[in-house]
Amino acid sequence: MSLMDKTARSIAEQVRRGELSAVEVVEDAFERISAVDGRPGVLDYGEISDEDKSKVHAFITLTKDRAYQQAQDVDRRVSAGEDPGPLAGVPITVKDIFCVKGTPSTAGSRMLANFVAPYTATPVERLEAAGAITLGKVNLDEFTYGSSSESSAFQPATRNPWHTDYVPGGSSGGSAAAVAAGEGLLSIGTDTGGSIRQPAAFCGVVGLKPTYGRVSRYGLIAFGSSLDCPGPVARNVGDAALMLSVMAGEDRCDSTAATLQVPDYLSSLDKDVRGLRIGISPDYMRIPYPDLQTGEVVVADLPEEIRDAILDAAQALADQGAEIVENVPMPNMSYGIPTYFVISRVEAASNLHRFDGVKYGYRTQSEFSDLREMYRKTRAEGFGLQPKLRILMGMYVSAAQYSEQYYQRALKVRSKIRSDFEAVFDPQGAYRLDTLLTPTTPTTAFKLGDVYGDTVLMQYADQLTVPANHAGIPAISIPGGISSEGLPIGLQFQAPDYREDTLFQVGHAYEQATLDADWRKIKPQVMKFVE
Ligand code: GLN
Repeated sequence: MSLMDKTARSIAEQVRRGELSAVEVVEDAFERISAVDGRPGVLDYGEISDEDKSKVHAFITLTKDRAYQQAQDVDRRVSAGEDPGPLAGVPITVKDIFCVKGTPSTAGSRMLANFVAPYTATPVERLEAAGAITLGKVNLDEFTYGSSSESSAFQPATRNPWHTDYVPGGSSGGSAAAVAAGEGLLSIGTDTGGSIRQPAAFCGVVGLKPTYGRVSRYGLIAFGSSLDCPGPVARNVGDAALMLSVMAGEDRCDSTAATLQVPDYLSSLDKDVRGLRIGISPDYMRIPYPDLQTGEVVVADLPEEIRDAILDAAQALADQGAEIVENVPMPNMSYGIPTYFVISRVEAASNLHRFDGVKYGYRTQSEFSDLREMYRKTRAEGFGLQPKLRILMGMYVSAAQYSEQYYQRALKVRSKIRSDFEAVFDPQGAYRLDTLLTPTTPTTAFKLGDVYGDTVLMQYADQLTVPANHAGIPAISIPGGISSEGLPIGLQFQAPDYREDTLFQVGHAYEQATLDADWRKIKPQVMKFVE
């Protein structure tokens, strides 16, 4: 068995005890990458070959020398009798939206293709300080704007390891695909509207959006500053818990990072679910969705396989002693997407101002006669379609004459969405939920090219994830089955502010209860490249 098929926890324990060298682990990781990944994403990619179509392409940059150096350092510390930390020797990948010192940090955009970060983002720094080994930077939608990873300027785009004709989801598609294919054991992603949970669901891995502020955003290239959350991607709940315990916590470089103490998340794995109140909401099972033929938004039931996965999970947890509370009303959840469309665009447009060809990143190579022309040409050439659309929309809905009608109104609706959660989680209220169980996504992974280019349809892929971003609450996606097409189905659990511990508790209990389920024996298609 390759070391890449083990859990991060067991690898770290063995490395810490000196039974396994970190260099050996890193060798196995690069071996797996060369078996399944194919060529990394580049700007000038030429033809996409049949060989390309069968591989994952999770990476933009491999940081091999840096990884071996880190691994040697871990091994040296173990032989000197020191403890390198709770992630000793665990190979990780980093979504290329985080700055990592001395490495290209591209955001999947031509605008930052030549940008080498002068410092490392706080959560990445903490992972490395705990002994984790960074293998490289993984692909994503340009500036994280998308749900399929197809909008990256670096192609070939990442493909779904379960079936390479399908997208891995997005925007943390490279993170989820790399973890699913065993190219590293953990990955750090970001979630603004669903970008950790949706690809985790599409790739059959665990993805957590922590409470807003639980993890520092310092060193993250910003999308929507009131929504962005860095978070873990892992193959099981316990590894995600370990990873969060390392990443989370206050940071003097980010004043929005919570000063609350970080609990011992690993201890919540041992708690059973007896008496835990788990809600199910019809508002997450029957939702407005664009009709694929006409484009018109109609209210429809989710696919039966997805609904069944939720009900089966609820049953499995009820068998363990949890109380299932049905018919939980979430009346404002369907406003999540329109509200997000407005708020996230305003914040994106504001955050993109800094890319002007002056401070860093791309500058037009062609002639210009004044500063404005330099800006115009730089942005026209440096940004892809999504940043351009988001700047236009963001400027429009926040303009003085429209702001009241759109942006200000969206902010009010956002607080209504939060009050839906407050009502059902209220310990004195009618529902008193510990967690709300829903599907993560309205569909399983879509085929490459099927949804890309249809901004509205693409946005609706986040319908079930985006309310948690508006509310700021934590939410996890965990694998909950395989569809008849052979594609993963994700279960989402949401909890009150800072109750990530409940998500780990319930997620782990579900994993344990379904350890022997037939669907867990099915492996991603790209495993055929691994003997
Ligand atoms: N798919 C959503 C968007 O395009 C969410 C992206 C994200 O969470 N970063 O905005």
